[in-house]
Amino acid sequence: MDAAIIAIGSELLTPEKIDTNSLYLTERLNARGVEVVLKMVVGDNRQRLVAAMRHALAAADLLILSGGLGPTEDDVTRDAVADLCGRALIFDPGVLEAIEERFRRLNRPMAEINRRQAYVIPGAHILPNSRGTAPGQWVEHNRQHILLLPGPPVELKTMFEAHCLPRLDALLPAQVIRTRQYRVAGMAESDLDQLISPIYSKYKNPATTILAAPGDIQIHLRARCATEAEAEALLAEVGDPIAELLGNRIYSRNGDPLEKVVGDLLKQRSWTLAVAESCTGGMLGERITSVPGSSNYFAGGFLTYSYEAKTKLLGIDSALLEEHKAVSAPVAQAMAEAARQLLGTHFGVSITGVAGPDPGPETEPPGVFYVGLASASSCQAKRFQWAPGDRHRIRVIATQSALDLLRRALIS
Ligand code: ATP
Ligand code: MG
Repeated sequence: MDAAIIAIGSELLTPEKIDTNSLYLTERLNARGVEVVLKMVVGDNRQRLVAAMRHALAAADLLILSGGLGPTEDDVTRDAVADLCGRALIFDPGVLEAIEERFRRLNRPMAEINRRQAYVIPGAHILPNSRGTAPGQWVEHNRQHILLLPGPPVELKTMFEAHCLPRLDALLPAQVIRTRQYRVAGMAESDLDQLISPIYSKYKNPATTILAAPGDIQIHLRARCATEAEAEALLAEVGDPIAELLGNRIYSRNGDPLEKVVGDLLKQRSWTLAVAESCTGGMLGERITSVPGSSNYFAGGFLTYSYEAKTKLLGIDSALLEEHKAVSAPVAQAMAEAARQLLGTHFGVSITGVAGPDPGPETEPPGVFYVGLASASSCQAKRFQWAPGDRHRIRVIATQSALDLLRRALIS
């Protein structure tokens, strides 16, 4: 079953207020395998709400409405649903009694306008509101389900948990959800999608989601089936060929970030690491040390931004710097090797580049960086070039590329 959500309230169309109810509802629905295929925010306007509901019900058989159940004239949800269903609202004395009882308990007089909240769609199942006055309603119309829920988040959540989820579970076929995920470093999203979309696009189940961050892509597969065995078989049918295509570009299958994966590899082998950074200004060291237990394998690093720092702290030959400039393969190699030797570690990793957005004094353009990797037996450097413009993005990608180059060396 697919769902649509409409959040109702003119205040939700202002810059001051955001619709959080739909996030909560989406989380709860997704956990049951119900996909939210459409979300809308509509102001307190009866005709517009009817039009929005028609649109939503063309896409989904479960429509959840949040808000507009208050007692005032601008609360139009009940009337709009009645319009949509072609039924006239009827007064429900039982609902009024419950509202009056709530006011009595709170020791407050009930305003006459609260009677409006006792009008219901004929045939609706009433959803008690233990946290407020307006009851919710569950309406079936043309074999579709329309839920009217109150806007205040605590009322909506309490009602949804207690009175909607049990009814929803009874409607849904018994099913299990199984997921797989792959994380991939150093690929552009479009390149990755071109490679794997011929596989996953043939399937609606499992559903595939691709989440891209700078230099880091997550591929999520979610299968919903009647049994666990079926779900696992579907995940294998789609996931295995994707994994095969991506090969060792996949760095994680359990959601771990790259710095954790690299840290685990170093720890398993009792190897140690030192870094030398220029354009990333310490970001690589920050990522490595964000992992608990990193002191087991990380010795430390050098933040050598200027030519002078590179010579004074790392002992890079100024002739080498003059000849090749700082953003170059020979300097990246020299930085990695110097870090390794100075701190006596198994590996040294370096980053030197032009983060941009403006061109620096270097010969390389913005968006270019080199990663150096030194071990006892070899020293290499690799050039990377990404579209410039966003300085932060380039720096994040540089740290991602450095960690990934090291990861590949560690598993090879
Ligand atoms: P009542 O008027 O009885 O409180 P209602 O169903 O008419 O209930 P609204 O008046 O629309 O609800 O909203 C009441 C409160 O809940 C307001 O503070 C509003 O900002 C908040 N609210 C409404 N809808 C949402 C939403 N989708 N996400 C987060 N907060 C919401
Ligand atoms: Mg409102």
